[in-house]
Amino acid sequence: PTAAAEITLSHRFADELPELAVEWRAVEPPAPRLLALNDALAADLGLDPAFLRTPEGVAFLAGTAVPGGARPVAQAYAGHQFGAFNPRLGDGRALLLGEVADREGALRDIHLKGSGPTPFSRGGDGLAAVGPMLREYVVSEAMHALGIPTTRALAVVATGRIVRRESDLPGAVLARVAASHLRVGTFVLARASGDIALLERLVDHAIARHYPHAAGAENRALALLDAVIDAQARLIARWMLVGFVHGVMNTDNATISGETIDYGPCAFLDTFDVGAVFSSIDQQGRYAYGAQPAIGEWNLARFAEALLPLLAEGADPANMDDAVAAAQQSLAAYRETYNAAWAEGMHAKLGGTPDDEQTAALVNDMFDMLAMARVDYTSFFRRLATAARGDRDPARALFADPAPFDLWVARWLALDPDPDLMDRVNPLYIPRNHLVEEALAAASDDGDLAPLDELVGVIRAPFTARPGLTRYEQPAPEAFGPYVTYC
Ligand code: AMP
Ligand code: MG
Ligand code: MG
Repeated sequence: PTAAAEITLSHRFADELPELAVEWRAVEPPAPRLLALNDALAADLGLDPAFLRTPEGVAFLAGTAVPGGARPVAQAYAGHQFGAFNPRLGDGRALLLGEVADREGALRDIHLKGSGPTPFSRGGDGLAAVGPMLREYVVSEAMHALGIPTTRALAVVATGRIVRRESDLPGAVLARVAASHLRVGTFVLARASGDIALLERLVDHAIARHYPHAAGAENRALALLDAVIDAQARLIARWMLVGFVHGVMNTDNATISGETIDYGPCAFLDTFDVGAVFSSIDQQGRYAYGAQPAIGEWNLARFAEALLPLLAEGADPANMDDAVAAAQQSLAAYRETYNAAWAEGMHAKLGGTPDDEQTAALVNDMFDMLAMARVDYTSFFRRLATAARGDRDPARALFADPAPFDLWVARWLALDPDPDLMDRVNPLYIPRNHLVEEALAAASDDGDLAPLDELVGVIRAPFTARPGLTRYEQPAPEAFGPYVTYC
């Protein structure tokens, strides 16, 4: 397409679930300017990057040039925020522009964040700042390059509008692409509405979009529950293996597709620490690194509760015992799937170690050692591969007291680890917190996009060592201090 009018956006969500959609439009940005465009993703969606760089293309990405026939909506959902139920969240600063078919024929949502206030804004301004939108761009692109299911960033458009936070910040709109924006919170809202027919329609919509195999199941809601439990367990295992801390795992930020969504106060671990918390608002450490697997399970329990009226077909609605038993049985699979996915990933990270008790003890000892010595998590695995190739010194240098490492590494080397396998699964380049901050500050304060472009280029090939990028391998300098993120 070379004009917005030629882009075809479907409106399946709005058509099938009108109770959960409010037709709405983006506000006009005073001075739109393209800051980042994901050419490869645009091409995947059949969108012409050259068109998206034109003023009309930028207006499409900011939500103000709406293709004919499109029906942008703000989506309604509920959610548990830090454990507390909020019956009415919804897109307070976002819009679903519509769906497009990608190259493989799968429907993908095109969604805007920072596009102005909506009926769900609850006193918020509906806006977003350049820094956090660029953070979502770079971190989601890193997750994709790492092979972790995630929403993608298509573009960031600076609006030319000032956003008032603790200080005045330049505003931006993020155009984001997702398998869908169905969340646990979407189902929680449908259930809370008391409209069982709506809940059933939502189940069928989710199955058609994400889990078509479940369409023929005897109990479709139960099949959907099992599929989502499986997808979320595998997703969170991937986060843990790579050292990703989401930061705000509320039920409105848990997808039905199993994609990572809503990159707010997220961060990658520097030093290994199960208690790592980066978000300024997570005072209790509810969403600490090591808490994520259990929180994932808690969120899925809320999903199962939302589905309860559909879980035991034909049962007396006043007697939920059968439905509760079915839900509990499904939820029990979460830990099994999570543990298996995590163990498989950890064996690969360690070069193909066998799945036996001896390795389990070795892995436990490794984590004790990493926690005690406060070792950089990402560097450790890459340098271990070098140890497997015969040079233990780089890994050894990560330890102030190398004695525990010397004992441990000898046990591990006896298992004959494969360093090439390790380098395929252990990233060398992640969006390190200090580098992300540096790139966002340059873009936000000075309008200098060069550091961001370079960082994105580096993290797009996370496993392949290239010369001249030493800076991108290094842990944060001491002077960077403890990292705090804001959403
Ligand atoms: P989040 O923590 O980004 O997932 O957002 C939680 C909820 O707050 C969602 O309903 C958002 O739409 C809403 N929200 C966040 N920031 C704003 C804002 N600046 N204006 C209006 N709503 C917002
Ligand atoms: Mg959210
Ligand atoms: Mg958000």
